Amino acid sequence: MVKVYIGIGSNLGDRVDNLHRALAAIDAFMTLEELSGVYETEPKYVLDQPAFLNMAVAGNCEMKPEELLASLKEAEVKIGRVPAAERYGPRAIDLDILFFGDQVVDQPDLQVPHPLIAEREFVLKPLADIAPQFRHPLAGRTIAEMLMALEVEGEAKAISVDV
Ligand code: ADP
Ligand code: MG
Repeated sequence: MVKVYIGIGSNLGDRVDNLHRALAAIDAFMTLEELSGVYETEPKYVLDQPAFLNMAVAGNCEMKPEELLASLKEAEVKIGRVPAAERYGPRAIDLDILFFGDQVVDQPDLQVPHPLIAEREFVLKPLADIAPQFRHPLAGRTIAEMLMALEVEGEAKAISVDV
């Protein structure tokens, strides 16, 4: 069994309900062990869209990375994600594989660790709740170190919210 970290985001519809439905869906195919807090974050890349709620979870997974990706995509559709007009645009739910143990996957439709972790406060902030000392298998830095680097750059704006 491998410890897997998944990033969850929502900025359309009932965001809190979408997060709950995502947790229920993920719980059906892996054993959830840790849940981060929930953070409201400003959109990145495509700025003209509603704020996101983001969180991260960890659990043990018996599937292969490709199988997990397929299950996550299926869950996204069930929760109400519709094909997007633009990359990084608004979505009811986004489920990304952040880490799959310390495995590295580099395929056209799946890169693990997720390639943009280091520049995304909306990923690092929740991850730091549950895995501050986890070391990125390629970058060699811990989650806490990567988050601190963004804070030094003034890129840290996530707001903790009670849900
Ligand atoms: P993004 O999450 O980058 O905003 P999407 O959720 O639309 O965009 O994902 C686009 C594609 O990214 C997916 O169809 C999937 O095949 C691919 N992908 C590559 N690596 C990963 C990963 N680690 N986790 C989830 N999706 C990934
Ligand atoms: Mg995604």
